[in-house]
Amino acid sequence: MSRFWSRLTHDLKPYVPGEQPRMAELVKLNTNESPLGPSPRALEAIRGEAADTLRLYPDPEASALRAALATYHQVRPEQVFVGNGSDEVLAHAFVALLKHDAPLLFPDITYSFYPVYCRLFGIAHEAVPLDSAMRICVADYRRPAGAIILPNPNAPTGVALSRAEIVTLLQDHPDAPVVIDEAYVDFGAETAIPLVASHRNLLVVQTMSKSRALAGLRGGYAIGDVGLIEALTRVKDSFNSYPLGRPAQAGAIASLEDEAYFQASRARVIEGRARLTSGLV
Ligand SMILES: *Cc1c(COP(=O)(O)O)cnc(C)c1O
Repeated sequence: MSRFWSRLTHDLKPYVPGEQPRMAELVKLNTNESPLGPSPRALEAIRGEAADTLRLYPDPEASALRAALATYHQVRPEQVFVGNGSDEVLAHAFVALLKHDAPLLFPDITYSFYPVYCRLFGIAHEAVPLDSAMRICVADYRRPAGAIILPNPNAPTGVALSRAEIVTLLQDHPDAPVVIDEAYVDFGAETAIPLVASHRNLLVVQTMSKSRALAGLRGGYAIGDVGLIEALTRVKDSFNSYPLGRPAQAGAIASLEDEAYFQASRARVIEGRARLTSGLV
């Protein structure tokens, strides 16, 4: 404890990232990194950015990447926000959208970064228990809420809500921002992105770290109504104008362009899960 620390720093309870042991040949599952590696086209694009242009700042608006994500997800570029990993996108969402007088609701068993952000940003929150089958029950969220955040599928349970259940949640809370953290959506859930067109309170957060095997690149993004995206941009531009460097922007775009590689590696991970599950029972 240092006398030079702020009161806030004394009171923090930081998130502890999964251990990265320096052992060769270790089958490492604790941080959900992909064993398959990124698209070769992404690697080539990243290498292409190791050039004299690194003396120049990257595009602060990441316009090309946001346009590529908009095309990929069939939304407008103004509905897309990008950040340095989805952890940074989530951090901005906590500040921009999830801090209200009424408590932020999230499941009692979920991504353990959420309570860490609440403490850092001074956000009132309530943990809603999972049901006896370890499921999120949307009816349990029918209580006063300033905002709601939950992963779909939930982590670490891996249990998903259907898109219809997300619609119910959105309809129950028309005046509260609802953030769906889809870090693992490509491995087993319906994305809520199509609901963005009809629900102005919905923000969907995705990452390139897991299903696109780019955890080391730090690319995350959010899709939502332009009003929500503007809130995130206001926070970002009050914090760091250039969250994604040139190699990250180029690599992320190239990954999106390699749909065949993405679909093949996603299918291999799902297949491996089925094999592991049947081997365990
Ligand atoms: C891994 C993970 C994230 C963060 O991923 P980034 O690497 O920061 O993009 C966010 N939410 C959940 C539930 C995760 O498991």
